[in-house]
Amino acid sequence: RNKRGRRPDWLRVKLPQGQEFKKVRSLVDEYDLHTVCESANCPNMGECWSAGTATFMILGNVCTRSCGFCAIKTGRPDEGLDWDEPRRVAEAAEKMGVQHAVITSVNRDERQDGGAPIFAETIRRIHDLGATVEVLTPDFRGIRDACQTVFDARPDIFNHNMETVPRLYRRVRPQADYQRSLDVLHWAKNEDLRTKSGIMVGLGETEEEVVDLMKDFVEIGLDVMTIGQYMQPTQMHLPVEEWVHPDTFKWYKEVGEDLGIEHVESSPLTRSSYHAEKHV
Ligand code: SF4
Ligand code: SF4
Repeated sequence: RNKRGRRPDWLRVKLPQGQEFKKVRSLVDEYDLHTVCESANCPNMGECWSAGTATFMILGNVCTRSCGFCAIKTGRPDEGLDWDEPRRVAEAAEKMGVQHAVITSVNRDERQDGGAPIFAETIRRIHDLGATVEVLTPDFRGIRDACQTVFDARPDIFNHNMETVPRLYRRVRPQADYQRSLDVLHWAKNEDLRTKSGIMVGLGETEEEVVDLMKDFVEIGLDVMTIGQYMQPTQMHLPVEEWVHPDTFKWYKEVGEDLGIEHVESSPLTRSSYHAEKHV
């Protein structure tokens, strides 16, 4: 086991380059959009953007929560919802020629609807283009009506990340609740949606805890799971407890799929939206 220390070679990534990358860059700017690729400082930006894919982040770029791993700014957004945002996201996606769009957001806990109507409208707009869409949503504080607004728009994949094992919630996702997040996924499954969730490893979890979490996923009928290495975005964020070896990622994939999860995407550089087009 490789604990802490220098970032290992398997996490070296390609630098952004090429025409496609520039095109994505200029569309994001032109339409005044945010991407989680940039906000989270994602190591796959070179690869994804050069292939013409990006993950749009809606509902602003200030989050009402303060997860210990996340580089997005915490605060109370001073504006309401941007009702023009779904149109801009869809137009940018169309110009990028994406067949499968991935949409995520910050949390808007100050609102009863959690911003769910904007998710719903974005899903409709992207479907109107003939593309499929995956939404990676907040837990909407477990408010069923807000979740239902998103379910009713029928995303092709409903994704909500559990992020880590229950024991580490207090440190990693202080404003979230393990059971509540699991319930949201369960509701989506009961609405006959394709469901997906992900975790980061290297935060101090044990292998046994990861397997237990996978059993919870099997219990609710989760379809797709992602597992990737946690990387500390800045010194202010939670430290990396372990650089998990690529073989362990492979082992997690085998165990998860043997337990009954249809598809487990698991590698050091796996992110929630990495290779998302393969999960539809
Ligand atoms: Fe963006 Fe997801 Fe690709 Fe990272 S893996 S660059 S967040 S699309
Ligand atoms: Fe970041 Fe999401 Fe946590 Fe907000 S809720 S701090 S966007 S991980």
